[in-house]
Amino acid sequence: MTELQQSLHTLGRLVGCTPLLALDVRFRGEARRIYAKAENFNFTGSIKDRMALHILRKAHDTGLLKPGAPIAEATSGNTGISFAALGRALGHPVTIFMPDWMSQERKDLIRSFGARIRLVSAAEGGFLGSIRLSEAWARETPGAFLPCQFANEANVEAHATTTGPEILAQLASVGLKPGAFVAGVGTGGTVMGVGSFLKGVDPGIRVHPVEPSNSPTLHTGHKVGKHRIQGISDEFIPAIVKLDQLDDILSVDDGDAILMAQKLADRGLGVGISSGANFLAALQAQDRLGSDAVVVTVFSDSNKKYLSTDLMREEPAKAGFLSPEVELVGIGQAI
Ligand code: PMP
Repeated sequence: MTELQQSLHTLGRLVGCTPLLALDVRFRGEARRIYAKAENFNFTGSIKDRMALHILRKAHDTGLLKPGAPIAEATSGNTGISFAALGRALGHPVTIFMPDWMSQERKDLIRSFGARIRLVSAAEGGFLGSIRLSEAWARETPGAFLPCQFANEANVEAHATTTGPEILAQLASVGLKPGAFVAGVGTGGTVMGVGSFLKGVDPGIRVHPVEPSNSPTLHTGHKVGKHRIQGISDEFIPAIVKLDQLDDILSVDDGDAILMAQKLADRGLGVGISSGANFLAALQAQDRLGSDAVVVTVFSDSNKKYLSTDLMREEPAKAGFLSPEVELVGIGQAI
């Protein structure tokens, strides 16, 4: 085994195979159970490690990425952390292009792994500007590899071959089958990959993409407003997202997502803001199917990357919020 193969093997042991949590809540006074994959258990603490490892492994296998060649990616944060850590572990120089308004923790973490960051201001085009600049960089840099997470089908494949089958097997181990899967859409890799896998098993399984109600990119096709759920609803609908293959879009207010993540933390489950949104969307999906339906979602990352954000501040509850009606019964069961 070469050193590179050894490193890929080691990383393979450190990414995926995350616990599936069975969380019992009372929602509007009714007993409910929601299943959530604890993706904070991955190598760098987020679900994006699955996609990054799969893309890097495939690029090495096909010869698209040569040993020691430079890697660059445009990202809102977690992807940058994944490519920085995994890329460096495999011996590559890494450059990350990201909007300058992302949390300080994300920027510091990427730099700490020895990757370079190119911050892109709103005036330079923000998110779309980051993509344009990374593409220009790749054209000018010999041997450069650009994972292109928003357009790369290997992103979807990562979840269709790992996250989806893990969910099915974990539920089967306790005699259950999924009724619905919900996930917030950043690149859409999670919802498309898990969704296509589960619908391949049973087309009746509902698969709902989730977005912030105060920035409905999926509903409109473009950026419409500001929101605080970092990692989802960027500025456009990514090429890998095929809404016609999914069920309807569920919406969650960003303040409600923050309150829900805080409520989970109050039970010791320190998850990020998109996890709060996913949990509330899972309850909405269950409303449609019945309170006994097996609804699965993901906790994409932990609360540690949000220390400087509103997740750590008091958040006012507004009329219509779901989180005030959720009472966590306990830490639940890990499958
Ligand atoms: N939540 C967080 C915190 C993320 O960083 C991301 C990735 N951008 C997502 C959710 C969405 O995942 P995906 O890119 O697979 O749609």
